Amino acid sequence: MPNCPECTAREKKKIQAKYEADVPEEDRSRDDLYKLFDEIDFPMKLDSATKHFICKRCGLYATREQVSDIKFKLNQREKTREDKQDDYLEWWQKSKKEKQEN
Ligand SMILES: [Zn+2]
Repeated sequence: MPNCPECTAREKKKIQAKYEADVPEEDRSRDDLYKLFDEIDFPMKLDSATKHFICKRCGLYATREQVSDIKFKLNQREKTREDKQDDYLEWWQKSKKEKQEN
């Protein structure tokens, strides 16, 4: 059964916040975080009559296609946010360098 994408995304945010609170920045690793993400388990139930998956936790009701679609969109959103942070960091470091050179 697929995991509920909504509950998984919410749980990921919680796990990441806790991880960042518990682990000092220099000890953090993406692999450790992903290992924690792997333990997330919110299996949906299949309603065989309608071929829809149901999440008992948040009430999401969707076909398999919709589930993958939601998962994809949530992943995209995560990615875009990370990219933006990287851009910002790059810009910030560049501007700092430029300031030092001037
Ligand atoms: Zn859910």
